[in-house]
Amino acid sequence: MWKQLICLAIAGAALIASPAMAQENARQEAARRAQALKTLPPDAARRLFGQVTTAAPGAGHAIGFYSRGCYAGGVQMANTGETWQVMRLSRNRSWGTPRLVRFLQKFSADAASVTGWQGILIGDMAQPRGGPMLTGHASHQLGIEADIWLRPMTGRVYSAAEREEVSSTDLVRKDKLDIDPRTYSASHVQLLKLAASSPHVARVFVNPAIKKALCRDAGADRAWLRKVRPTWGHNYHFHVRLSCNSGDACRNQPPPPPGDGCGKELDWWFRPEVLHPKPRPPGKPPRALTMADLPPACQAVLQAP
Ligand SMILES: [Zn+2]
Repeated sequence: MWKQLICLAIAGAALIASPAMAQENARQEAARRAQALKTLPPDAARRLFGQVTTAAPGAGHAIGFYSRGCYAGGVQMANTGETWQVMRLSRNRSWGTPRLVRFLQKFSADAASVTGWQGILIGDMAQPRGGPMLTGHASHQLGIEADIWLRPMTGRVYSAAEREEVSSTDLVRKDKLDIDPRTYSASHVQLLKLAASSPHVARVFVNPAIKKALCRDAGADRAWLRKVRPTWGHNYHFHVRLSCNSGDACRNQPPPPPGDGCGKELDWWFRPEVLHPKPRPPGKPPRALTMADLPPACQAVLQAP
């Protein structure tokens, strides 16, 4: 029971890549990877999955749970489409199940039409075979999750070098209590509403200040707000989590609590002790997941030619 609760807490809230990490350029990311490789035990699942560069053959099924799993049959998102560009190409995380890739292709076109932007900028999806990563993210392991930048895509097609260096846009005010009106726009409301309204989407994660603004600006149609979940960071990008499919061997989270989530639950995030937590005293880092913590089928995915 506790194990499950902890698992849910990790997948649902904390430990999703910090905003700073999500923005890191190729050099910073490489340094972090090197550090992880130096310190992780040899059997750490992050070390093993984090160094695989190709997909595993198979039918494209997700296996396990968002924070403990993998997938076979990965496909890579094209770097550039009519209505999307993939950023931070050096990370090789633009992979997912065919279902995720199809979802993003369609979502990007719909997003362009509801926002008036040229399209969307896509951040991390999954590694070629999923699993835990050497850097960042507790989830993103099943090939059914993606980060989408809050910076609009313009008509400019970025070079590979620019995709490593360009930063996204911070929608949140410095005091973290509300959005920054200089960067937040009605297009962001439409973009997030589109994502949360999709029947394929289980949850959308945003910064609490963004959720606060959505609660204010949603108007009478509020059912979609239920799936928009506040969490740390997520002021430069939002995270889309698809539901497990019937063909998958993965486990869905329980649905979010009923209602729009705009009341007491949201207020909690703005308490001073939550907004500015005391730094934790240095201690032993948590034990890294090993292959034994993942479903046995992930061993086969890892070892597939
Ligand atoms: Zn994410």
